Amino acid sequence: MTYTSSILLLYTGGTIGMVADPKTGSLKPFEFSNLLKQIPELNQMNCRIDTDSLDAPIDSSNMSPDHWHRLAKRIEKDYYHYDGFVVLHGSDTMAYTSSALSFMFENLSKPVILTGSQLPIGIPRSDARENLLTSLEIALAKNEEGGPRVPEVAVYFEYDLLRGNRLHKISTQDFEAFQSMNYPRLAEAGVRIQFSDNYIFKGSSGSFRTHTQMSAKVGVLTAFPGLAPEFALPVINNPHTEGLVYRTFGSGNTPTHPWLLKALEEAVKRGVKVINLSQCDGGGVFMGQYESSRALLDIGVISAQDMTFESAITKLMYLLPLGLSADEFKQQYESNLRGELTE
Ligand code: ASP
Repeated sequence: MTYTSSILLLYTGGTIGMVADPKTGSLKPFEFSNLLKQIPELNQMNCRIDTDSLDAPIDSSNMSPDHWHRLAKRIEKDYYHYDGFVVLHGSDTMAYTSSALSFMFENLSKPVILTGSQLPIGIPRSDARENLLTSLEIALAKNEEGGPRVPEVAVYFEYDLLRGNRLHKISTQDFEAFQSMNYPRLAEAGVRIQFSDNYIFKGSSGSFRTHTQMSAKVGVLTAFPGLAPEFALPVINNPHTEGLVYRTFGSGNTPTHPWLLKALEEAVKRGVKVINLSQCDGGGVFMGQYESSRALLDIGVISAQDMTFESAITKLMYLLPLGLSADEFKQQYESNLRGELTE
């Protein structure tokens, strides 16, 4: 049979393809062929579906920049051969991978849809079948001009399509596992799939390019009442750190202990890119609104605005290897590169 459309379906692991270990009862990743056997509907889709997996399937807790690199390269290799790409991935770190891929792909103009499930495909009440089949439909969907309807990295899970660098896993129990607090969903699947075209990226005419270097020389510090120098200073002063995400209160406010501000200022002077990210999921950072955030603005801390944690850290990992000057780095980080922040 000759089809006019084709999809590359990539398997990385995750609950969707897991089976219970007979000895321990714990779920562990299983072969792709087992998963495919359980979805005979794949043969009824009106398109060619080619499949591939990245080495051995993994629990996504083991996902690393090296896996992102291989995933991005695999998509790049066949970018012009397929209408779209669907990636099966564990839900635990799906928001990190979708954020990372969104930065790694420059001028993306095809759908890269990540999905997974809360229950393995072999379990009768599993959400896997619907998540996978609808993701394929979304990756195949065309706009009025016949181009891809969703030319961006997105995640489909439990009837919602969300921008890949805007979502966060919020539940280990509900089928509705993800939320995008600061950006509307891109589509909702009911009897029909309702696309919100106004919110979907329009595609890029520039030439497609993959950035595969992601620096893991990053640290994270979370503010909390009682943050003490003996715990915070080793993180801030770590000589290997090139970028630090500082998770602050509210709209970017910090405890104003002199030891803390002095250490952050010295880190900025050493060239560490210090990012101010709010611990709140909704809204973002407005440095200078309160005196307790002006101090950070004054010492040259960079604002993550309304990004998610996953997006803030992967954007840092993406920008660090680019060799930007301090001013260029700040300008790029605070700009909307891939729809990850609201300008
Ligand atoms: N631990 C699993 C994973 O992220 C959870 C899931 O897939 O939902 O690989």
